[in-house]
Amino acid sequence: MSLSHVASSIPASPTIALNEEARMLREKGEPVIHLGIGEPKNKTPITAILSSAAKLVSGDVKYVPTDGTPSLKKAIVRYSEENYDWVVSPQNIIISDGAKQSLFNILFTLCNPQDEVIVIAPYWVSYPEMIKMIGAIPVIVTPEDGSFMPGFEEIEKVVGSYTKAIIVNSPNNPSGMVYPEDLISKIVDLCERKGIYMICDDIYQKLVFDGKVAFPACKYTQKDIENSKIILVNGVAKLYGMTGFRVGWALAPKKLVTIMTNVQSQTTTCVSPVMQAAAEGALNGMQSVVESLRLTIQNNRDVLMQELHSFTDVYCLKPQGTFYALPDFKAYCRNSIAKNSVELCQFLLKKALVVTVPGKEFGMEGHLRLSYAGTVKELIEGIERMKWALDPNAPSEIYIGDRKLVRDWL
Ligand code: PMP
Repeated sequence: MSLSHVASSIPASPTIALNEEARMLREKGEPVIHLGIGEPKNKTPITAILSSAAKLVSGDVKYVPTDGTPSLKKAIVRYSEENYDWVVSPQNIIISDGAKQSLFNILFTLCNPQDEVIVIAPYWVSYPEMIKMIGAIPVIVTPEDGSFMPGFEEIEKVVGSYTKAIIVNSPNNPSGMVYPEDLISKIVDLCERKGIYMICDDIYQKLVFDGKVAFPACKYTQKDIENSKIILVNGVAKLYGMTGFRVGWALAPKKLVTIMTNVQSQTTTCVSPVMQAAAEGALNGMQSVVESLRLTIQNNRDVLMQELHSFTDVYCLKPQGTFYALPDFKAYCRNSIAKNSVELCQFLLKKALVVTVPGKEFGMEGHLRLSYAGTVKELIEGIERMKWALDPNAPSEIYIGDRKLVRDWL
């Protein structure tokens, strides 16, 4: 029996597959350190717990409007005004099962087969696959100077008559870079001139360090949401560390939101009202939880950078936001241990029980994505194990769990 060629060509999300592998190893009692996962360790904000618990206890958990509950929309309208100075109405909002579903719905709503969507490398793993799933074509722009900062001219060059949209993710997963103001404003202008959509994946918008800010695209347009080309995506997963609640949203012109709502009504109907109540609780609750999460992650970033400094031949741009770094491991990708980042990642998992994600998945071969969303202890031990496995200058003996291991491959 032949199955869909498109569906069959889509690989599993590598980050999700690695999570699963780590979980199975841990179940077997292996002392795995997970530097792959983009998930902070914080507990769910109490206001989210209370709000969702109240909904559950009410016993009134039924279908709700496809585009989201009016009360969560109200909280998002306020969030948008306070954080973006962007006036939106409830009809400009659609709530989905995580920002991931928001992005898929947007792409599905915008693109015809053969349309092109510009993606800037390094990119989040799911963008190209989602674009392919809907029959459109990802056009990748890769900065050649190793800076992880795309040049505006390189983007402008690939815009053609089939270009429907460009996805901009700043702060960026996986590089941790925050794109400069000048670049954001030029992309806004380009999209308005050419009539293409700018999909801003702002999921890490508040996770920025050292007093930096992530420049919101809507600041650089004179138009209101109905007339602008900006579509904004956000959610509670990274903002409040509420990854398991699966609530994200898109802000877009009403015309688009109506079509996205029709699409969602035929696929998932609506997001669970229990989860929407949780998101509402978080948005309406004390925002100090966001700052405390940000400070924890910034401290983790500093620890990671310090640990990486003593790693021979590893070069890492200091992340300005998110909880990821994308160090250059090319020096370790050209020997008998590994020929590329995928093999390197497998080697590290096998020998050192450390989960990393290959840069290849993000369009940056020769790099590894490391997440510093976990604990400082895990970070320090994880990098120590990686050094032991790869760096001839590191001591050749190590304890992993209660096993003493001796390196005999370098
Ligand atoms: N965009 C980016 C850049 C992400 O890193 C992620 C999650 N890793 C998402 C979107 C999806 O977020 P959610 O969990 O809300 O679906």
